[in-house]
Amino acid sequence: LMHLTRKLIEIRTMLISIDQSDALKLPSIVVIGSQSSGKSSVLEAIVGHEFLPKGNNMVTRRPIELTLIHTPVEDGKAAQEYGEFPALGLGKITDFTVIQRTLTDLNLAVPASEAVSNEPIDLRIYSPHVPDLTLIDLPGYIQIASMDQPETLKEKIAGLCERYIREPNIILAVCAADVDLANSPALRASRKVDPLGLRTIGVITKMDLVPPEQGATILAGNRYPLHLGYIGVICKSHGKTVNKDRLSTVARQNEHEYFGAHRELFGKQSSVMAGTDTLRRRLMEVLESSMASSLHGITNAVQLELEEAQYQFKVQYNDRRISAESYVAETMDTLKARFKEYTAEFRKPAVRAKLKAMLEERVMDVLEQLYWTDKRAPELTALGADARVKPEDVEPYWRYKLDAASSLLTKSGVGRDSTLLVADGLRALIDSIAQGDPYSFHPRAAERLIEFSHTLLRERIGVTSDQVENCIKPYKFEVEVEPREWEAGRVEAVGLFEREMKLCEEKLKDIKSRVGGGRRLNNLVSYVKELEVKERERKQRRLTAPNEEEAAAAADASIEEYRYPPGQILDARHAMMYNDRLGILKLRLVALKSKRCKAGPENDVLCPEAFLNVVADKLAYTSAMFISIELLDHFFYQFPREIDSRLLYDLDRKEIVDFARENPIIRKHLDLQERKDKLEEVMKQLNSLATLRPDVQPTPRRQ
Ligand code: GDP
Repeated sequence: LMHLTRKLIEIRTMLISIDQSDALKLPSIVVIGSQSSGKSSVLEAIVGHEFLPKGNNMVTRRPIELTLIHTPVEDGKAAQEYGEFPALGLGKITDFTVIQRTLTDLNLAVPASEAVSNEPIDLRIYSPHVPDLTLIDLPGYIQIASMDQPETLKEKIAGLCERYIREPNIILAVCAADVDLANSPALRASRKVDPLGLRTIGVITKMDLVPPEQGATILAGNRYPLHLGYIGVICKSHGKTVNKDRLSTVARQNEHEYFGAHRELFGKQSSVMAGTDTLRRRLMEVLESSMASSLHGITNAVQLELEEAQYQFKVQYNDRRISAESYVAETMDTLKARFKEYTAEFRKPAVRAKLKAMLEERVMDVLEQLYWTDKRAPELTALGADARVKPEDVEPYWRYKLDAASSLLTKSGVGRDSTLLVADGLRALIDSIAQGDPYSFHPRAAERLIEFSHTLLRERIGVTSDQVENCIKPYKFEVEVEPREWEAGRVEAVGLFEREMKLCEEKLKDIKSRVGGGRRLNNLVSYVKELEVKERERKQRRLTAPNEEEAAAAADASIEEYRYPPGQILDARHAMMYNDRLGILKLRLVALKSKRCKAGPENDVLCPEAFLNVVADKLAYTSAMFISIELLDHFFYQFPREIDSRLLYDLDRKEIVDFARENPIIRKHLDLQERKDKLEEVMKQLNSLATLRPDVQPTPRRQ
């Protein structure tokens, strides 16, 4: 018989973990009573230990779901007594004062402003001295809230109790014998939900405080009849020192003596029930029969829920099972695979092309700085066009210029800039992976991913840029150019110039359409040129003014109102700049395509564009090679390993589950799967009950 309740208690715990709906609830015993009615004393008498929070301040602020598990006596020696808080993971607690302290802490953790919380505390007690029972201890009813308690506390407690005393739970209404039952909030509350008293047991405490006859009359229950009856107890040990370990012995003795002394009123022959032992037995009987009668309904409910869960699992997931572990592993594999896909973008030719593009940009800057803005630039073009001029006859001015240009290029911090360019590319790649699916669900993992990959890069950047800078050092002194390289550089320069010209033309077109056509732009440009001439003259006048007054007058005169809006003046200035640029580019393009430039590297002074392109090529080639070795190979080797060690192996079981559940799709899948599994397990257990007690066959209703 014992086994049935035990099994059902297990099932009840599982059902609670599946969901909190009333349909899936097996009954428990709910203990209610007003403050100081002796509620705690009764519970402690049942458990046989002092373990509940004590104090003047209302100390039960959260419901305590107390599960008592009878551990059998094995080989003649009693099994250990201990408690467990499954939610806290503290393990077995054999010292009941520790349990008491933990409960006090948990209660006090509820903010004073809230005073009570609906969140139950789950406590299990294993002992050979307890029956298999589930009891729920609720905050005691209060009459009036004290100064420091919220006004609504009374209603809050009443509301909380009301939720728990619903069907199918059994109500243990605790009332003190020395208080008129008419004033018992516990009985009043129970009567509201259970008017016939079919599932209410009255517990009359402090029987020693009223004359025995009066006590017996209360227990007879004629005034407020309860179907399950009243039981009288005495739980106080009359101030005698209580042996903390075996609280019950002393208290029990007192009770025994008292009821024994009035055997005619409370003894076996009388029709009333008295004593803690009777109470325990009564609770077991009532719980068991109540559970047994709930069995049929609960089995049907579970069966229905199970069928629904199985159906959904089939429809939504085609019965495909997943685990948090497999999800995490898959996610990491996908990450590695995706990363690998992208690494193609970082093969040497691709890197070289990127670096080349950066250096070409720089070549153009150098050309602009040293050649295009040089007033003598047309001379160079003229020299190149003159077939009689030999390269060695060209003025040293142009030789120095070329050396300076080459230096500007090779000494522009290529090592650092090219390394950073590639590192930035990697960083952007990682960032985009971290922002994409499924990492958008896993912000913390994404953050770690970014963090460790950036660290990894940072560690290599210094080494790599030094190494690259070192390897391009020779080019800072001399660049030897082969004819084949020369031709390639020349062709690239032609391409560059053509592109640059197109860009200038586009800009001009934009400006033209913005100011309203070519004619208008021409007008604007002549106006701006006029302005410039005037400005120059004024400046001249100011500088050559004989005295300060005239200089000031000249300066004032320079402030003239524009005939056109400032934006258009600016456009005109830009148009002039692009026009000049186009003129030079056109000339130089002719030079680059000339026989002289095609002839070979000996014409470097006359074709600086081709020469600088060759230098850029060499720099790009060397940089790409060393960046590949020092940065990319390292990174590509290390990155997947870091994923394993920083993202994967770092996780414990709980973190793996948390990670998987961050993804709402996976969470839904896992939830349904878990629900189905649990329901299947419950169903199995319910079915196995049939073998324990054939008279309570669950026989599920099939549709
Ligand atoms: P709770 O507030 O309802 O949990 O009540 P307690 O269990 O803390 O008891 C309130 C007071 O009543 C305490 O001082 C107990 O010692 C006392 N008390 C409890 N049971 C009995 C009893 O059977 N007889 C006597 N005389 N006092 C009791």
